[in-house]
Amino acid sequence: MARYLESVCKMCRREGMKLFFKAERCYTDKCSFERRSYAPGQHGQGRGKVSEYALQLREKQKVKRVYGLLESQFKGTFKDADRAKGITGENLISLLERRLDNAVYRLGFAGCRVEARMMVTHGYFRVNGRKVDIPSFRLKANDVVEIAEKRKKEERVHSNLKAAERHPHPEWLSLDKDALKGTVTRLPRRDDTTLPMHEQLIVELYSK
Ligand code: SF4
Repeated sequence: MARYLESVCKMCRREGMKLFFKAERCYTDKCSFERRSYAPGQHGQGRGKVSEYALQLREKQKVKRVYGLLESQFKGTFKDADRAKGITGENLISLLERRLDNAVYRLGFAGCRVEARMMVTHGYFRVNGRKVDIPSFRLKANDVVEIAEKRKKEERVHSNLKAAERHPHPEWLSLDKDALKGTVTRLPRRDDTTLPMHEQLIVELYSK
């Protein structure tokens, strides 16, 4: 499973935006980024002129971290995006959104993508009735993601769903809260994600 050794809050500060790795805490004034929005380290408050390459690299790191992928996984997803029809950058975001762990988070079953990944690997979910414990599992249109029967009463699931009411799930997913079930109504598009991402910079980076 993808694992970063750096403190997750430092990652937010390094990328210059909130990446929401800590569920509840990210929405409170305990959020490190709210208190110190500059990059960590000795030179964090005074960045000089940034090269084009550095910008591209930073953007790639940011998107990779948002979705919790390691370099090889991210590169693999980029290759798939490049091979697919359409605009590579937009394909990339769509493929990242279609990951099972992301959909679990976007539906509100988990408080953040880190928790979503953990829940998936611990067998919390069924896709079209079958157990899937692979966070990178790629969803298709009409797939149904459901909480496993024995997990349906867990407090974690219900408190996460309650907390998720403050950020509604995207249009490509529909949620049946009573049945604890989500459906992929269509494939996600670039404009379904509101996080500021400049995917073209990543395309330029990998095209070198
Ligand atoms: Fe990022 Fe959340 Fe930490 Fe704030 S609390 S810095 S949003 S991980």
